[in-house]
Amino acid sequence: MSTEQGPRPHRVLVLNSGSSSVKYQLLDMADARRLAVGLVERIGEETSRLVHTPLTEGAGGEREVTGRVADHREALEAVAAELAKDGLGLDSPELAAIGHRVVHGGRQFTRPTVIDDAVLAEIERLVPVAPLHNPANLMGIRTARRMRPDLPQVAVFDTTFHTTMPEYAARYPIERETADAHRVRRYGFHGTSHGYVARKAAELLDRPLAELNLITLHLGNGASAAAVRGGICVDTSMGLTPLEGLMMGTRSGDVDPAVVFHLRRVAGMETDETDALLNQRSGLLGICGDNDMREITRRMDEGDEDARLAFDMYVHRLKKYIGAYAAVLGRVDAVVFTAGVGENAAAVRQAAVEGLEGFGMAVDRELNAVRSGAPRLISPGSSRVAVAVVPTDEELEIAEQTYALVGPDTRPAPESADSPATPPG
Ligand code: AMP
Repeated sequence: MSTEQGPRPHRVLVLNSGSSSVKYQLLDMADARRLAVGLVERIGEETSRLVHTPLTEGAGGEREVTGRVADHREALEAVAAELAKDGLGLDSPELAAIGHRVVHGGRQFTRPTVIDDAVLAEIERLVPVAPLHNPANLMGIRTARRMRPDLPQVAVFDTTFHTTMPEYAARYPIERETADAHRVRRYGFHGTSHGYVARKAAELLDRPLAELNLITLHLGNGASAAAVRGGICVDTSMGLTPLEGLMMGTRSGDVDPAVVFHLRRVAGMETDETDALLNQRSGLLGICGDNDMREITRRMDEGDEDARLAFDMYVHRLKKYIGAYAAVLGRVDAVVFTAGVGENAAAVRQAAVEGLEGFGMAVDRELNAVRSGAPRLISPGSSRVAVAVVPTDEELEIAEQTYALVGPDTRPAPESADSPATPPG
């Protein structure tokens, strides 16, 4: 534990709690530096594993702890113990806040929000529209609050960036009464990432975000596209759940909804079975047996036809969204690739933009082949539309939004009158 008394708390712990995992990063907001990163996985199984990497000077390398971690409480306790070994304990007075990734914030959470009992109840109320994600996020929040009840804790929602979508983009064309009764509409996800890379793309282009029309493509294991006008999201490909839109690692993306009824009628498939089919056994995996783009491009280069088909389908669907969002925006200033596939798979970027010269979009082969962790342009100088690769950093964005909200001066009174920490109505 650190006994050093900093002038003001300036560290933020970011927690991303999944159903059987907790990912975490501890950041120093004075210089946006990572102090430690880690992951607890297989929570609840006999073979849980914690991998902790301290990044402070002289702290040594990665440490691994294996053994049963029964639940999220034990997971966070294990994380706290590892952090304490590096003098970064959760009881440190330098810890300013904990920022939690929360997947579903519905329509109501239009900004990051300091968590109190009312906010917790609202997140709980959204469980029916995010049955896989919000309960896990809630477990992480409850545990962290129990461990540090005095500390401001902030929820940063994947949906917030998309709450600006116009009603005609957010609604599905189905009977209004039924849709409204069950909150069926497009919410969109990966918002933290889309918002972050939009801002970074404006920096890269050295132009004000407010002037730019961007198509942001978050292509990770999950994948989504967003149309962003002047920094404001006007449409996005994921919908009520993260299943809609682009073809993904294991998720189908867009299919005719009648596929579900058809499979029910001809194969007797129950709701949960179709859910698992479309979410876990479809996408790249469903077509070629692999969901890792590295493996798919490798197989493709060896002439594997299934891998080629999966790749072609992925790119075809991606291209359709680029075209659709070019139409939605009218004028496009930049197409921005991010996340695991978007940042690393040059072949995907090349193929997705190929043939779009009529839209003013092109990729320079040499620039596209450069491997780098920095934001960069991959379009030729002559291209009317910039094509960029911008590494995403959702944890940094969550930490910054958390810190901006609780501020170094507001601790420990997030509800004080001059704090902007009011839950949205
Ligand atoms: P993410 O969800 O953003 O972590 O992205 C994970 C996915 O990125 C993996 O499943 C891979 O398909 C893809 N990926 C990661 N590294 C590479 C790489 N070097 N080349 C191609 N794809 C990659």
